[in-house]
Amino acid sequence: MKTGILTIGNELISGKTRDTNASFVARELYLQGWQVSVIMSVGDDENDIKSGLDHILSLSDAVVITGGLGPTVDDITTAALAHAFSLNLYTDVTALKHLKERFQKYRLPWTENNAKQAVFPEGSETILNPVGTAWGFTLKRGRKIIAVIPGVPAEVKRMVPEGVIPAFRKEFAQEALAIAHRTIRLSGITEARVDEALADVDFDALGVTIGFYPDFPEIQIVLSARCSSDTEALEKIKKAEVQVTARLRHYIFAYDQETIESIVASSLTNKGLTVAIAESCTGGLITDRLTNIPGSSSFLERSVIAYSNQAKTDLLGVPEEILKSFGAVSEQAAILMAQGVRTSGKTDIGVAVTGIAGPTGGSDEKPVGTVFIALTDGSKSFCRHYSFRWDRRRNKIIASQATLIMLKRYLTGELEHE
Ligand code: AMP
Ligand code: MG
Repeated sequence: MKTGILTIGNELISGKTRDTNASFVARELYLQGWQVSVIMSVGDDENDIKSGLDHILSLSDAVVITGGLGPTVDDITTAALAHAFSLNLYTDVTALKHLKERFQKYRLPWTENNAKQAVFPEGSETILNPVGTAWGFTLKRGRKIIAVIPGVPAEVKRMVPEGVIPAFRKEFAQEALAIAHRTIRLSGITEARVDEALADVDFDALGVTIGFYPDFPEIQIVLSARCSSDTEALEKIKKAEVQVTARLRHYIFAYDQETIESIVASSLTNKGLTVAIAESCTGGLITDRLTNIPGSSSFLERSVIAYSNQAKTDLLGVPEEILKSFGAVSEQAAILMAQGVRTSGKTDIGVAVTGIAGPTGGSDEKPVGTVFIALTDGSKSFCRHYSFRWDRRRNKIIASQATLIMLKRYLTGELEHE
């Protein structure tokens, strides 16, 4: 089955709003094993909607449309479709009731223009909106199906998996095959080197397709298999995964929906260990990421953002002489920062990061992107020296990533054997 996506809205074609719906919907369709032939955006213009849809229908069997279902005059998607296919409009009483109840629940004043959100082209089937006002609908044209939903991203995120995909599945049931995916997440390696490392693996022979998705600061490898049964698809994925792991083990830090912070958090929690963090060049980013995990207070005792030399001395007890002779960006400073924050926090583990995020502050000896990351558990201390080559923001992100990965490797025992 071939699919297409049409996103509608003047805010999209003027560049004011980034079209996140298109990528979200594409991913959802892809994960179902359906090819996306075309993605197109048009403004809230009847003619453009009509010609855009004509073109998409010429390339695909199923179309997802987002946007233009609101109450205001610029929301014309429903009317444009009705005109395009010469269909009358009708008001769906269930949708209207739901709409009015929603207004009451949130104490919003009801105005008649809102009733427009319960109007559909004849012959369509409604798609419930569990998180907003405007319902969506599906419309069949011959053997093709069009699903129309509002543009609000939070509503799209619910209505695609809950309404659109089931409707498409029902329509193309005879084509349904089992499909399995596995996302392998890597860090600290370039896409080209991943490709090179996997050059000798014959994924076709394994019955698996492979996709590379760089998503800074990581690279995702997505393995997919389509077979007649789930078991068979999973088996194929497993075999391919073994091949990938054998070649790239060192760079793999997570699978599927896991993140490095969620892995570190659950490992610390399971082991009952506490951590204190001293951040310089990352400015609190590591702590931000870790505290996004619910329950982080059980393992994170404190963090110190020790940005100046004075702060490194005052708050972490790094001797001035060390900072003078080796510099604040040095292995010596990083280790003493980790030891200092561990001692003051009385934690099991102390972690510290110090570096030059750029664009200024670099030297021949220590160019922009030089970062030292240290970890201590009281008996052993580790320090790693990195040379990142990104801009300021990315250097901060990748330094936070490297720190979390180092923490994970300590917790698994790998760090000691590197
Ligand atoms: P609409 O359903 O057209 O009234 O859209 C409601 C709001 O959702 C718009 O004002 C945008 O802020 C947002 N929106 C609409 N389409 C998209 C899209 N394709 N990607 C991201 N946001 C969107
Ligand atoms: Mg709109």
